[in-house]
Amino acid sequence: MTTESRSHIPTMTRQGFLRGAAAASLLPCLPVLSKAHAAAIGVVEIAPGLFVHKGQHADVNAENAGDISNMSFIVGRESVAVIDTGGSARIGANLREAIAAATDRPIRYVINTHMHPDHVFGNAGFASAKPEFVAHHKMARGLSARAEGYLARNKEWMGDANFAGTEVILPATAVATTLDLDLGGRVLRLEARPTAHTDNDMTVLDTATGTLLLGDIAFSGRIPTIDGSIAGWLKLIAKLKSESVARVVPGHGPPSMSMSDALLPLERYLTAVATEVRAAIKDGKTLSETTETAALSEKDAWLLFAEHHKRNVTAAFAELEWE
Ligand SMILES: [Zn+2]
Repeated sequence: MTTESRSHIPTMTRQGFLRGAAAASLLPCLPVLSKAHAAAIGVVEIAPGLFVHKGQHADVNAENAGDISNMSFIVGRESVAVIDTGGSARIGANLREAIAAATDRPIRYVINTHMHPDHVFGNAGFASAKPEFVAHHKMARGLSARAEGYLARNKEWMGDANFAGTEVILPATAVATTLDLDLGGRVLRLEARPTAHTDNDMTVLDTATGTLLLGDIAFSGRIPTIDGSIAGWLKLIAKLKSESVARVVPGHGPPSMSMSDALLPLERYLTAVATEVRAAIKDGKTLSETTETAALSEKDAWLLFAEHHKRNVTAAFAELEWE
């Protein structure tokens, strides 16, 4: 049994960075992709009708145009659902080309696993297909609050040409608990999760193949980033570990993994950060002392450790000092 919760949120935020019809009229003006560029986006079929593109382990730059997170699509008898769209309209459009090469069925749903730009900025590449955009019920609020900063920074990092056509497209359908979407003989079970990586993480279970798409609840290879709650994330990992699925798709990492391969190194990292930050707080250490020392044993286990670890310690410190 699942309970359904759908509410309708305006596609554009109220804050005026998208100016209604004017912005909508820009959406068809997506970058025209050369065949060579479109062909550059590879997808693998990890289970029948379930395709994943693996994003690069890098921060956003001009070379990757925001192609740094995993994107997936699932083909049912009647329609297709896309799960995450990459970090720019260009990357979203590239994924759309890959979908068109795999199936002629229409794209009915575009599902975002959470608000981060590397998972949602490709939505603009799908707008002209007029899919139903779906996300966690807190996603629209979180993304709206940060949209201007996200847009400005990503444009700067990847450059104007790569960023062309990129807009914020918020979900029309908000999931507060769970929601089943039927692609025709193939039901996807969406589940809004409690605060972990962010406060708007949502998972997608492809019931036909027993594949759980975890979004950024799972990072493999590149260091995770804590933008929600380290305590909540560890609690969620403990719960997910007891669930039996055939395979999972992480938000960053290999296209297909076992649940334990996806979650155990992540759990070890988060546990090290939480344990050592709690000890530092107890010992009266300052935040800056703690960022220099906590969980350095994890340094060689993760790509981009130097870029993100101190910020994770800072986030954990701010959360855990109030325990
Ligand atoms: Zn994320």
